Amino acid sequence: MRLSIISLLFFTLLSSGTEDLKIELDQKLESLMPKVIEWRHDIHQYPELANREFRTSKKVADHLESLGLEVETGIAYTGVVALIKGGKPGPTVALRADMDALPVEEKTGLPFASKVRTQYLGNDVGVMHACGHDAHVSILMGVAEFLAENKFKLAGDVLLIFQPAEEGPPEGEGGGAKMMLEEGLFERYKPEVIFGLHVTNIPNGYIAIKPGPALAAASAYRITIKGVQTHGSTPWAGIDPIMATAQLIQSLNTVVSRRINIINNPAVVSVGMVEAGTRNNIIPEDSMLMGTIRTFDPELRKEIYNEIRQIAEGVAQGTGTEIAVEFDVGGFYPVTVNDKPLLSKLKNSLVEASGGKFLELEAPATGAEDFSYFSQEIPGVYFWLGVNKPGVGLNSTNFGDRSGAAGNHSPYFYVDDGALDEGVKGLTYLVLDYLGS
Ligand SMILES: [Zn+2]
Ligand SMILES: [Zn+2]
Repeated sequence: MRLSIISLLFFTLLSSGTEDLKIELDQKLESLMPKVIEWRHDIHQYPELANREFRTSKKVADHLESLGLEVETGIAYTGVVALIKGGKPGPTVALRADMDALPVEEKTGLPFASKVRTQYLGNDVGVMHACGHDAHVSILMGVAEFLAENKFKLAGDVLLIFQPAEEGPPEGEGGGAKMMLEEGLFERYKPEVIFGLHVTNIPNGYIAIKPGPALAAASAYRITIKGVQTHGSTPWAGIDPIMATAQLIQSLNTVVSRRINIINNPAVVSVGMVEAGTRNNIIPEDSMLMGTIRTFDPELRKEIYNEIRQIAEGVAQGTGTEIAVEFDVGGFYPVTVNDKPLLSKLKNSLVEASGGKFLELEAPATGAEDFSYFSQEIPGVYFWLGVNKPGVGLNSTNFGDRSGAAGNHSPYFYVDDGALDEGVKGLTYLVLDYLGS
């Protein structure tokens, strides 16, 4: 009896401690958010591609060191992690932000727009935080600052993971979450659960979740076609790989619409890249195309791979070309799953953090996430944060009904600074409620 009164008292104290910390965070946001916004603008202006996040990871490591944390750098090339040791015993919670940008030429016209250019797959390209990872990094830097300052009140530890190459490493390099795990990240820190977020074009300050499978598995495929080169005026003297490529593109677009059953499990097959030729009157020797496959079911994925192989064989026979097909080029992304029991336990944290601007989605999105490698190992919660300009797209409440605001990977992708505090609150509340419960 005595014991249970004491433990009751203990839990009351603990949970009121959690509520106090939430109030403290609200007060802290006034001085914290201008810093978060400044960090984001700086990171946005100097974006770096996957496995090349040198400046970004230095900025992160400097900040974490300034908070008095022990920082590990150089994980999976440029990854940075630090552990916030709580003042009381408890489990370890991991928080993850991704740091890489994309080969996209920015067209937002913002004063801090990126002017960075680099070489990508042999081409001169612009570099832009077109997926909003600049927001993720600066949000987590802000969360780190608040939690580090209040670490003595935490009943457990917080592992901060700043990961490289979420968009996929350059071919042949390896990288991202998978490589961090291969380097023993979870064995060293043993986190019990992991939380992450992604900014996207839904209404400002909204938090959206999808219980269970939330994002698709993704595999890049590459098809190389070898013909026989000839002058454009005498096509009969060679074998035209461009014509074979055209047939392939047509047939690839029938995989989902005509060749597999998608009644229970959606799937996508897209062609995103076609390369052939150098001049109007030369039929080249080779051509190449690449695309992405999105699925939620491993069996259906195998079926799609088989269909694509069959199509390639058929076109090769019909045209006399040699065709080679590769899957999982540059790696593979598993399905990103929100752990249902964990999410139902913590859903209210996100409702509260967003001030009720909360959406629970029924359909998964066909995007993909490297976060899936982490949440395959331990239960995870992954939520979307709406960063539209205020007032934009207020009627769009799911991913199929977007607002007209540019989406992730667009050269016009826009992140509203005013929504970032919901991100800081979302991640912090998840930590406080998990460790406090
Ligand atoms: Zn992203
Ligand atoms: Zn992306």
